[in-house]
Amino acid sequence: MNAADTIFAPATPPGFSAIAVVRLTGPQTLEYVKKIFVPASKNTDIGLVAGHTAHFGSLYAEGKLLDEAVVTFFRAPHSYTGEEMAELSCHGSPYIVQQLCAELSRLGIRLAKPGEFTLRAFLNGKMDLSQAEAVADVIASQTRTAHGLALNQMRGGFSSVIADLRKQLLEFSSLLTLELDFSEEDVEFANRGRLEELLQQIERVTAELITSFTLGNVIKSGIPVAIIGKPNVGKSTLLNAILKEEKAIVSDIPGTTRDAIEDTVIIEGIAFRFIDTAGLRQAGDTLEQIGMLRTIEKIAQARIILYVVDMADSGLEEIEGTLKELASTYSESQKTFIIVANKTDLLVETPKNFSGLMEHEVVFISAKRRENIHMLMEVLLQSINLEAMSDQTLLTNSRHFDALTRTRKSVQTIREGLQSGLSADLLATDLQQALHYLGEITGEITTDEILGQIFERFCIGK
Ligand code: GDP
Repeated sequence: MNAADTIFAPATPPGFSAIAVVRLTGPQTLEYVKKIFVPASKNTDIGLVAGHTAHFGSLYAEGKLLDEAVVTFFRAPHSYTGEEMAELSCHGSPYIVQQLCAELSRLGIRLAKPGEFTLRAFLNGKMDLSQAEAVADVIASQTRTAHGLALNQMRGGFSSVIADLRKQLLEFSSLLTLELDFSEEDVEFANRGRLEELLQQIERVTAELITSFTLGNVIKSGIPVAIIGKPNVGKSTLLNAILKEEKAIVSDIPGTTRDAIEDTVIIEGIAFRFIDTAGLRQAGDTLEQIGMLRTIEKIAQARIILYVVDMADSGLEEIEGTLKELASTYSESQKTFIIVANKTDLLVETPKNFSGLMEHEVVFISAKRRENIHMLMEVLLQSINLEAMSDQTLLTNSRHFDALTRTRKSVQTIREGLQSGLSADLLATDLQQALHYLGEITGEITTDEILGQIFERFCIGK
């Protein structure tokens, strides 16, 4: 991509709206705007406008009046991209926008590629790579928590910590290289003790971020909840009841592979992804025997398991048996099991011993009559650690996860090298590796291929 040319793109979605915005960025922005826009004020010279000012006037296409518009100017380097920029706000008519874009093309301006504005912002040092990536996440966020995480990262997040650690490591790398120049004299410029301290710090920071990825990823794509239970206990009825209770259903969250039978519901700003499952088992079968791989797979994917039982039908012993089996199978994973005792409408009174079912939460509902569904939602919300989500810096991006995992590994290698008294030249090589991985996160080290992959998922005009 040639960063020196001037590009344009509609910044608002196609369709009818109150206003529509077409943006331009690049060195010839003012010249081009001058060709299509005549300010209402006779005293305004577009070539000399100040940054962050808005001007009312008329837009022309092929010499004919097209619309009245307001143009906002941003002068380099104080703009989103760091270049000269203008935003043409016209009336939100698809025809006007199309005519305006056609006129800009005729003048020889190129239509921007997806994410090209943000790519330029990155290339011009307005933000680092992980911040640029977060811009796409901010736009795509559909829940309070996902939005909070993305915004935090866009405004810096862990970038500065990583950049700072990398800078310190870079200093050691130069000192080690210096040692190589004086190798005859057996001097140590790089203090090994301090290097070890720094490496420990990097390991700690990367380990924390790596651990946070599970939660961060889950927040971004929705917390997976599996609804399981024997046939006819009311699983589908329950799912429908939940979907009806919460109108805010997300049809598609970017970055997730959903099957058709998944439904995402937002409860109190948190997305829950409900995974529907086939009946858990027939009476008497064990989990292994029924071979319901699908169900088992779904349970494996889920973070929360809603185990639905039919109050009118299920005996306590059977429920306890299944729970024990599930608990032993999934004891290692941090899954939350919630027992949903359904069809309370068929009972005269709640069986007393039901509530004492092991250490698990039991919620009594009638899915058919939609009774107590809100209570189940409360329990769902309580089962996730909301506080951990709000302030912590969580990793949500799998590219960062990969780079951090590799960083941690190479830091471990360096530490082992230090302990075994590895020579300066070999240490320096290992350090280069760690510097490379750290640099990939913030974008100090990058390739066209990586940039291509990142920015192709942006929309045009961003
Ligand atoms: P699934 O096989 O577990 O998905 O069960 P369904 O949701 O298809 O429900 C099986 C039957 O139980 C249907 O006839 C539902 O109408 C009925 N059912 C579901 N929930 C309730 C409930 O809370 N009370 C009563 N009385 N019937 C229910």
